Amino acid sequence: MALRIGAVRLNLLLNSRCLHKFASFVGVRSLSEKVSSKPATSRPSDTTSDHLIYTQEHFALKEALRKLIDQEINPYVDKWEAEGTFPAHKIFKILGNAGFLGVSKPVEYGGLGLDFSYSVAVAEELGSISCGGIPMAIGVQSDMATPALARFGSDELKKEFLLPSIMGDKVACLGVSEVGAGSDVSSIMTKAERKGDEYVINGGKMWTTNGTQADWMCLLANTSDGPPHKNKSLICLPMNLPGVQVARKIDKMGMWSSDTAEVFFDDVRVPCKNVIGEEGMGFTYQMLQFQEERLWAVANVITTMDSIIQDTIQYTRQRKIFKQPVLYHQTVHFRLAELQTEVEALRSLLYRATALYIKGNDVTKLASMAKLKAGRLARELSDGCLQFWGGMGYTSDVPVSRFYRDSRLLSIGAGADEVMLGIICKYMDTLPRK
Ligand SMILES: Cc1cc2nc3c(=O)[nH]c(=O)nc-3n(C[C@H](O)[C@H](O)[C@H](O)COP(=O)(O)OP(=O)(O)OC[C@H]3O[C@@H](n4cnc5c(N)ncnc54)[C@H](O)[C@@H]3O)c2cc1C
Repeated sequence: MALRIGAVRLNLLLNSRCLHKFASFVGVRSLSEKVSSKPATSRPSDTTSDHLIYTQEHFALKEALRKLIDQEINPYVDKWEAEGTFPAHKIFKILGNAGFLGVSKPVEYGGLGLDFSYSVAVAEELGSISCGGIPMAIGVQSDMATPALARFGSDELKKEFLLPSIMGDKVACLGVSEVGAGSDVSSIMTKAERKGDEYVINGGKMWTTNGTQADWMCLLANTSDGPPHKNKSLICLPMNLPGVQVARKIDKMGMWSSDTAEVFFDDVRVPCKNVIGEEGMGFTYQMLQFQEERLWAVANVITTMDSIIQDTIQYTRQRKIFKQPVLYHQTVHFRLAELQTEVEALRSLLYRATALYIKGNDVTKLASMAKLKAGRLARELSDGCLQFWGGMGYTSDVPVSRFYRDSRLLSIGAGADEVMLGIICKYMDTLPRK
């Protein structure tokens, strides 16, 4: 019965403009056939009935994206990792055409108009890209640089920046962190001074993902001298304006295929109408934007965690030491069982936070807990699994070593573990009173 209802809903969706986009990757007929007959096998979360937050449509979306990834992205990942960058415009155009860059964004600006659980499903599936850098770059475009614009931006701004970003015609980046301000967002120094109907921007941004390729930046800057939580604004900043200088591409420990830039602003003039929503509300908007960014990051890493465990099971099953497979040593299979248990706990937390979020609840506490847990588990899991690969784990050739390098970022970026702990403590009312 549930399957029949699902099939009817799927057909309804397939008749709408939005699903046509991603359905084109598998063909509408084969998509609906696959969705209704796919057994619950490969990954634990991929059960099509009784799922906590996913319907048939979520699974159809994931399957279509998986096909695109297998065709258009994964065959080239090793090359892009070696080159230290990937062709963002080309890949975003393919993803944009298919609708994957704006699943939860408004239909009138090219999005699919679905709720945020679909973004979580997309983030999960992007985890099947065989590196962390490209999913991160995509996530910046779809769920980190654009949520505030979609929610608070003017119609004119959305047409100029949101629509082309969703369609994959423009590459976006997010400019929050600076050389002197990462964890403490309130202490950023970049200034946007109002002169007539323009802002004149001076300062710089650090660690800007997509920064060397981006067409525009969602920039957080100080627009007044008021208190630090009320003096900031988010501004849509075209990257081709005079005075915007991409100073360098930063060499990194991991996430090699994602370009990370340092950017300077020297008397950059941008119209005041480029401010997102209300002037002075930028800090608040950015904190809201972080909720989606953090849930996205958790969803994205879970799929890779599953596949690293599976890869490790396969490798240790065939690799023999002391006359038996590595896997048969109790310390190995017990450890893998512990790690999978932790992944399942994280998945439950993610789905609970997502379910509450799409009903309109504030999930700051749960999203922060999930982000904290994801960062710590990624470290534990990548290190634990790599150990069982022996010397092979120490080579650059195996996914587990790439995951070890790439996933280390999760405890630092988008709010370090300690920042998450601070937020959780605030909600627990355990911070020292002033
Ligand atoms: C590869 C990469 C991509 C990135 N992409 C972007 C991007 O696209 N846009 C963007 O704006 N930023 C981006 N960042 C920046 C990232 O969000 C920051 O690195 C992060 O917020 C931490 O800031 P920081 O590096 O300045 O560390 P700092 O703020 O100097 O913090 C250093 C350490 O202090 C500790 N700490 C922090 N707060 C506390 C506390 N309250 N109590 C105790 N200890 C604490 C933590 O261990 C933290 O790691 C990226 C970073 C990297 C490395």
